[in-house]
Amino acid sequence: MKVEKKEYTMTPRVLVLGEVLVEVMRKELDQPLSKAADFVGPFPSGATCIFIDAVARLGGSAGCIGVAGADDFGDCVVDRLRADGVDISHMRRAPGYTTGIAFVAYRSDGSRKFVFHLPQAAAALLGPDDVDPEYVAGAKYVHVTGSVLSMSESARQACYKATRACKEAGGRISFDPNIRPELLGIDRVREICKPILELCDVLLPSGEEAAMLTGDDDEETACRNLLADGIPIVALKRGDQGSKVFTDSQVIEVPTIQVNEIDPTGAGDCYGGAFVVGLLEGWDLARVARFANVVGALSVTKRGPMEGAPYRDQVLPLL
Ligand code: ATP
Ligand code: MG
Repeated sequence: MKVEKKEYTMTPRVLVLGEVLVEVMRKELDQPLSKAADFVGPFPSGATCIFIDAVARLGGSAGCIGVAGADDFGDCVVDRLRADGVDISHMRRAPGYTTGIAFVAYRSDGSRKFVFHLPQAAAALLGPDDVDPEYVAGAKYVHVTGSVLSMSESARQACYKATRACKEAGGRISFDPNIRPELLGIDRVREICKPILELCDVLLPSGEEAAMLTGDDDEETACRNLLADGIPIVALKRGDQGSKVFTDSQVIEVPTIQVNEIDPTGAGDCYGGAFVVGLLEGWDLARVARFANVVGALSVTKRGPMEGAPYRDQVLPLL
């Protein structure tokens, strides 16, 4: 194991509200999810679980608040987080519920098709009672995603409670608005994101997501408008083009490294985890973004959303 086993006596510096799920994926391209064909998995997954696993592998102090089922798929996620050094003391297992599952098929044009077992799964039971304000108040960052906000009403309220408690205690909020507008409609997406955007210190959108939040046609204008709304840092993720970081005083375009992409799922979450780790190191934004780009790039080189998440000593020589 490449991470030191951590014993947490106080709140980790980075916390997430967990989207606890496993991913089961098609072995071959272009196999529709409506027909019988081979799958591979389960792999531990879930946007915020990927994020916090990356934080831990990068040497950060990391914790997850969330709900897994009392089943083997729950072990799959919880065992991985524990092994990588994430504090799981605020995760619980829900008897009688199965762990969340995402079935994924990849198409040869690079697009993905999902079937989710999530709103009815243990993960969606996450609620305000799972959020201990004292625990959260000790964190430097609480990270939230659109996917957790849209998991269930109770999960959404848990996110609002945790972000308020962290912020009131002087902590910061990072937010990946990875919401699927086809599920909720754009107006509802904006409505549920608003309370988080108002507290957000670091926004981590893809181009489409930035444009969706503001209604602008192009992603740059969207990012500038998000800054104008009071978000101090907007880090725009651009796949194999790297990333672009916007602040009031600068726009930094940072290249990534070239890699052989095996599985793109989770790159954005690994990028986000690395970005927060970099900020906590006190690095300048160019170095933070470069670090996050390299982590995102390495994460796509293995099959499985968390499998490619690199360890700190793999990343530093590539900066
Ligand atoms: P997902 O939602 O699938 O997790 P995303 O759209 O949120 O992904 P991406 O832009 O795909 O995020 O990836 C995040 C970062 O990881 C990119 O900004 C880039 O730095 C790096 N990255 C991702 N894919 C590649 C790639 N094929 N080659 C090099 N770097 C990559
Ligand atoms: Mg994403």
